[in-house]
Amino acid sequence: MSVTILVVEDEPAIQELISYNLKRNGHMVLCADDAEQAMGMVNNVLPDLVLLDWMLPQMSGVEFARILRREPRTKSVPIIMLTAKVEENEKILGLDAGADDYITKPFSPRELIARIKAVLRRRLPELSEEVLEVDGLKLDPTTHRVSIVTDNKELKFAELTLGPTEFRLLHYLMAHKERVHTRAQLLDRVWGDHVFIEDRTVDVHIRRLRKVLEDVGKDKLVQTVRGAGYRFSVEYK
Ligand code: CA
Repeated sequence: MSVTILVVEDEPAIQELISYNLKRNGHMVLCADDAEQAMGMVNNVLPDLVLLDWMLPQMSGVEFARILRREPRTKSVPIIMLTAKVEENEKILGLDAGADDYITKPFSPRELIARIKAVLRRRLPELSEEVLEVDGLKLDPTTHRVSIVTDNKELKFAELTLGPTEFRLLHYLMAHKERVHTRAQLLDRVWGDHVFIEDRTVDVHIRRLRKVLEDVGKDKLVQTVRGAGYRFSVEYK
């Protein structure tokens, strides 16, 4: 499970230690020294998770968490607060601001990695290695295989050939079924870039995905929601 993590920490030594350990675990790391710099980074690339120091110069980590939670684009990005504070009422304040979890300084790299893993598993199901099955369509993230499970002997376990982008797109849609996703959201979550890639790109890959699904009669799972975006839903019959 490799993800992009934004580390907002003003102490260089701690920032470096965190960054080193995250990279060692295969993650992509973005580092910011304060909330303003972090905001600039978030505007470019939506991270999969934010590690946010409570005590920052100028804007505090709690205030920054509130801003992230207010914006539609960033409101569901998981946040783990780093804090030297252990007071119960302060913990509550942070959780109210929208933090998913807490890590109290000093912490071990092992604890850090374990907490991140737990939050990601809970919050970003498309990053899990779990096999997904929807309406007879089966996707295995570990083997990168998509197959069809059916009683029809000729089709039994028929495997679908998908390009890497279509695979990621399908994985995301299956992990978040029955919800409408705008093109910008899909670009953020599947491509990791909503600024430099055109919305039209999404349509192109949706079309390719549907074409592959059509061969096994499952293209109707991917639905266009007029004026809004796309939805993966079994409610098509
Ligand atoms: Ca600090």
